[in-house]
Amino acid sequence: MNEHDVFQTDVLIVGAGPVGLTLACDLARRGVACRIVERDATAGRASKAKTIQPRSLEVLDDLGAVEHVVRHGIADLPLRFHDSSGGVVDGPSITVRARDSFGTPYPDPLWIGQFDVEHALRERLRLLGGSVEHQVEAVDLAQDQDGVTAAMRTPQGDRTVRARYVVATDGGKSTVRGLLGLHLAGETREAERWYIGDVTVNGLARDHMHVWTSDDGMLVLTPLPHSDLWQLQAPVPAGTEPSTPTCELYQRLLDERNAGITLTSAAWLSVYRVNIRMLTDYRSGRVLFAGDAAHVHTPAGGQGMNTGIQDAYNLGWKLGAVIRGASPDLLDTYSAERAPVARTVLAVSTRKLDRTTQRIGGHADMLGPALGELADDAMTTGLGIRYGSGSHDPSTGPVAGDRAPNATGLRGPDSTGDLFDLTRGPHWTLIAFDNDDPALTDRTEPGILHLHLHRINTDDGLLDGDGEFQRIYAPRRGELILIRPDGHIATRIPHDQTADLFDTLPVAAPMR
Ligand SMILES: Cc1cc2nc3c(=O)[nH]c(=O)nc-3n(C[C@H](O)[C@H](O)[C@H](O)COP(=O)(O)OP(=O)(O)OC[C@H]3O[C@@H](n4cnc5c(N)ncnc54)[C@H](O)[C@@H]3O)c2cc1C
Repeated sequence: MNEHDVFQTDVLIVGAGPVGLTLACDLARRGVACRIVERDATAGRASKAKTIQPRSLEVLDDLGAVEHVVRHGIADLPLRFHDSSGGVVDGPSITVRARDSFGTPYPDPLWIGQFDVEHALRERLRLLGGSVEHQVEAVDLAQDQDGVTAAMRTPQGDRTVRARYVVATDGGKSTVRGLLGLHLAGETREAERWYIGDVTVNGLARDHMHVWTSDDGMLVLTPLPHSDLWQLQAPVPAGTEPSTPTCELYQRLLDERNAGITLTSAAWLSVYRVNIRMLTDYRSGRVLFAGDAAHVHTPAGGQGMNTGIQDAYNLGWKLGAVIRGASPDLLDTYSAERAPVARTVLAVSTRKLDRTTQRIGGHADMLGPALGELADDAMTTGLGIRYGSGSHDPSTGPVAGDRAPNATGLRGPDSTGDLFDLTRGPHWTLIAFDNDDPALTDRTEPGILHLHLHRINTDDGLLDGDGEFQRIYAPRRGELILIRPDGHIATRIPHDQTADLFDTLPVAAPMR
């Protein structure tokens, strides 16, 4: 092959689902040369994930992609249980609002079809100058010391991409994972299968999620906002093999429950099998895995897309730093931080599924609480996820590893607004609390490390107008609080250790 036929890039992303798109946006805004390839000819239209959690909304906000999602999602979707004699019982939404103490501008999870989240990310990528290369399928891969060579199949013929790093975001059946001979460890529940699909129906109020209970399990129809679609989910009856999913079959499932609903069309029909599996290490040399390519779990609690989006966000700044010259060891922290999150999600979502399944033949008054248990707030919202050991003591404020909560009412010479307004973007943020050490100003760099001098009793610097920063962070005089590009606290350092900050700062290498 002629070397001119080889497309060179820094990062090749395989798969343009929500996770690949999140990473592509993050790398594009960092100016990292990146290609994102997708096997399918067009953007995905299947609803699949239908809730986006508060932490993922924060991620999309930081990436500049949240607006469409907020406009198209809805926060309140109460439940309506139907019995076979036509009776109904109403219950509250199964999503849980985040506690005030998380300090988030997005306390409510939003109901929204996955295709709408992908649309928002694709549009953002376009504005950042990138685009998805459709009908390009990764079919082979070889890595060496300096990079990865990937063979692509396209309608125009085969092509080769040479990249410094490859990120596999190619879903649960990941081709890349197979090519490297890696396996997801865990269990597959052959007997637990679900019919799923996006359908249109006649005669059903779109302001509720509708549930029909029966001995064969609950059938759920969830309206997908800003469309005429409903997502249908119903378990394949125990002890039977799934039939080919068709509109007629789904109509029969409704008729068996005396739903009195007519299905008028179906856009996506499938059978879902419960897999509870993950990679033990998300890195194999120069190939990294994120999203369903790294972990698959039960749909209970609605965590798959959300965990994947947050994987990509953890990886984006690290890849960006390594491409700029930071030690590749930084990439090991990606798996070290994200694999434990997936392990917890797997355990919690399996527990939730088991608890709910035990009650699915029951009555509405049993099902309400069972479905409510699907959402706790710290883990499900993603706001309580922390990296590393140690624990949060409310009297000292958040510590290294914690997500940095928002604080409103900040006023400064260059900006007025929230802490999130200061951290929004690909940079690190250093908040110096009543600390005027000139070394701080000397060492900060626009676009890479932003310094905000937070002063007490003076008019220059950043003022804590609402007293929120004090209340949430409980800073000590002279303290330095360093926030990573992904919004987690890197370190909190006392005033007399300012010099150490720059010696030990993980950002030091990528900055130079
Ligand atoms: C019924 C259902 C309900 C769900 N509900 C929720 C929910 O409420 N909340 C939630 O968070 N999650 C939910 N999920 C899970 C969620 O849909 C997935 O976790 C999410 O799609 C994972 O995103 P991803 O980008 O990792 O992979 P995918 O979305 O699977 O995207 C992978 C992409 O890679 C492409 N690809 C594959 N192989 C190649 C190749 N060799 N070359 C190029 N491209 C390739 C594929 O075509 C695909 O577009 C649900 C899933 C289902 C099925």
